[in-house]
Amino acid sequence: MDQSTAENPEEADFLILDANAVKSLIDISQSIDIAERALKKTSNGTAIQDIRRVLEFGETGRCLSIMYANVNDLPAFGAKVLSVYPGNFAHGLPSHRGGILLFERQRGRPVALVDGGEATAWRTAAASAAATRALSRAESSTLALLGYGEQAQRHVEAIASVRPIRTIRVWGRDVEKAELFAKTQRKAGFDAKVCESAGQAVSGMDIVCTVTTAQTPILSGQWLTPGTHVNAVGASVPSCQEIDVECLRRARVWVDYMPMALTAAAELIQAVREGIIQETDICGEIGAVFEKKIPGRQSASEITLYRSLGVPAQDIELANFLYEAAARSGTGVRVKFGG
Ligand code: NDP
Repeated sequence: MDQSTAENPEEADFLILDANAVKSLIDISQSIDIAERALKKTSNGTAIQDIRRVLEFGETGRCLSIMYANVNDLPAFGAKVLSVYPGNFAHGLPSHRGGILLFERQRGRPVALVDGGEATAWRTAAASAAATRALSRAESSTLALLGYGEQAQRHVEAIASVRPIRTIRVWGRDVEKAELFAKTQRKAGFDAKVCESAGQAVSGMDIVCTVTTAQTPILSGQWLTPGTHVNAVGASVPSCQEIDVECLRRARVWVDYMPMALTAAAELIQAVREGIIQETDICGEIGAVFEKKIPGRQSASEITLYRSLGVPAQDIELANFLYEAAARSGTGVRVKFGG
């Protein structure tokens, strides 16, 4: 043991939380509250953060993604480092893998590594659920999913916890995979069916989620029904695009973090560049709606759209929660590291 460790026994303590540990420490309702808190802190300046840094490998969609934040009222700051391999889905593997590294504020010591894939899956669907709770019509009971991967599954669970979802429609490129997804939802008690086209899947639905790695639009604004709420989640780098500019013409749009939206949301960048919308047409950040600083939905007939890009503060808020919950319950593996 070196001198600093002898003087400060906790200096030796570094916590590792794998995916199972993350799952055991949090439930949907807590994760939605955490996402809401992080998005409020994003909008009110409590979270100091930057846009996502992405190192693309030139092969379709593959990249190294780095997101970092210092949330001023939390004990630890940190960074999430992920590999994003969209092609992994075809091999039954997760597309987002890596970790969140936390540092304690007083001496800057690294204190924890949290599974980044599991944390990302939780916090993304939780943020959409929080936005859905704020923007969709309260009686919304029908949900359309474009995509049937990890995020699609998490979105069903999270959104059904904030709205009385009974009916699910799913569309994707592979009918068999879509049918498998629908079967899982029927087992969970939903009236779920596969649609042959994305247009059929979204027509007349209360809530629509786009959760694919598509590079060209899969959702056209022409298909949306008045009163629908859309969570556009999948395209978080400018080389991907899920929604067309018609969605932006027809919907009122909120984003999670304005600097990220204006640098990473391809359809928003295109629409502003071509003068189809102005930056000022974007209603604002969802955290400001949560804090009641700006209005949300104003009529039952308007189409609302939450454009999710992913915010570093969400990861750091969640990782702090997990770190503290693990300390209370003795969860995770402790090793000597970074002293
Ligand atoms: P998965 O790999 O688990 O699923 C990907 C889905 O996209 C599958 O349904 C796949 O089906 C579908 N897909 C791929 N290409 C196309 C296409 N051209 N047209 C239609 N569907 C397509 O990924 P996740 O569920 O983990 O993530 C989904 C998306 O969400 C990703 O783009 C990811 O980067 C993004 N994401 C966004 C976050 C945010 O904070 N906003 C956070 C985490 C993820 P098939 O290949 O069979 O067509």
